[in-house]
Amino acid sequence: MNKSALSSAQKVADVGLEMYKLMAELYPICRSITGNGVRETLHIIGKHIPIEVHNVPTGTKVFDWTVPKEWNIKNAYVKNPHGECVVDFRQSNLHVVNYSVPVKRRLSLSELRPRLHTLPEHPEWVPYRTSYYSEDWGFCLSHTQLLELKEGEYEVCIDSSLQPGFLTYGEYFLPGGTADEVLISCHVCHPSLANDNLSGIALATFLAQHLRAETHRYSYRFLFIPGTIGSIAWLSQHEAETLRIKHGLVLASVGAGDKFTYKKSRRGNAEIDRATCNVLRHSGTPYEIREFSPYGYDERQFCSPGFNLPVGCLMRTPNGEFPEYHTSADNLEFVQPSLLAESFEVTLEIVDALEGNGVYINQNPKCEPQLGKRGLYRSVGGTQSEVEELAMLWVLNLSDGKHTLLDIAERAECPFGEIRRGASLLLAHDLLKQSEAYA
Ligand code: ZN
Repeated sequence: MNKSALSSAQKVADVGLEMYKLMAELYPICRSITGNGVRETLHIIGKHIPIEVHNVPTGTKVFDWTVPKEWNIKNAYVKNPHGECVVDFRQSNLHVVNYSVPVKRRLSLSELRPRLHTLPEHPEWVPYRTSYYSEDWGFCLSHTQLLELKEGEYEVCIDSSLQPGFLTYGEYFLPGGTADEVLISCHVCHPSLANDNLSGIALATFLAQHLRAETHRYSYRFLFIPGTIGSIAWLSQHEAETLRIKHGLVLASVGAGDKFTYKKSRRGNAEIDRATCNVLRHSGTPYEIREFSPYGYDERQFCSPGFNLPVGCLMRTPNGEFPEYHTSADNLEFVQPSLLAESFEVTLEIVDALEGNGVYINQNPKCEPQLGKRGLYRSVGGTQSEVEELAMLWVLNLSDGKHTLLDIAERAECPFGEIRRGASLLLAHDLLKQSEAYA
């Protein structure tokens, strides 16, 4: 793939700002695993890429699960004995336990107290809580707010609805040169939370937008789905398509934190795992590679044993492992455009590695070809750098029809991009031929 369209650091920085702008636009929307918040979100994403919106009816059996009733909410509040609003959904949608059933009643503070969720260890933050699969209700508030509540009769109102409707998700299929697919998935079910949720949405959206303008070998399938139930619903209705998925990434929490975390697919040595490890190893930024575990985001479903898809999870801050996780502190101040830009760049490099991988055959395997007479050797006035020379020597040596360029990059301990450039130079001079066996 031609990376020249994004050659300058300025362009990458601009993408980071655009991603941040999209997140800021999506941030106020009250999303959940179903409902109008997801539709509104998909509508906004649709201004950037032509996604298709799909609706799966309530009650649909999806493997061992059932699509739940659709949840929507207009307003919610708690009023103190003086009629003053002390918890207000309109100030933050985190104040209501997501999926709360409708409620309108008066009750004492001691009756209300078990319904109030706080974070004593972070007394200024509001927690994010959900009650998807049991009909319940509650409020979330800062611990400081809670301590200010006096005895007396409170009025609570949750103007929500929980009715038969749909589970909504977005899908964007971008055809490539082959029917083989790369799956890019992110969850769209969190309300006003920036890093865990919106950053993944922004990265997937701008990655799709970028790839649309490029020629690419693979077809790309972008999923914007509610966590867990969304991937289960999609998988249950697209089993045939999963056979075409050759590589995949779940993108989540990519806007904060000073290092990357990549969680490998269940297979552990899939091409996506190796490509991502190579990119991160040579990225110059701190990173951590983790083995697969059946916990986390939708890789849990994609990597369930009945599918075992080669899908890893690219994060910066892993779920549950940063203090701001699932709290009001995961807000627009917590994420940074520069980190979003870096995540975009790394993801693009991973995609480039998948796109550029292949098996080649050295056309001059008996001793080294004379690079100098072809202008490929620095010492006789060529323009190649030492790095390019070394990359070419590695490619020549290992291009015996048995090694992929990614194998060569690993063996040479080189960034994939360098090996790929070395191969391109050799191809241009007819010293290398693509293997027919690898397509
Ligand atoms: Zn989450």
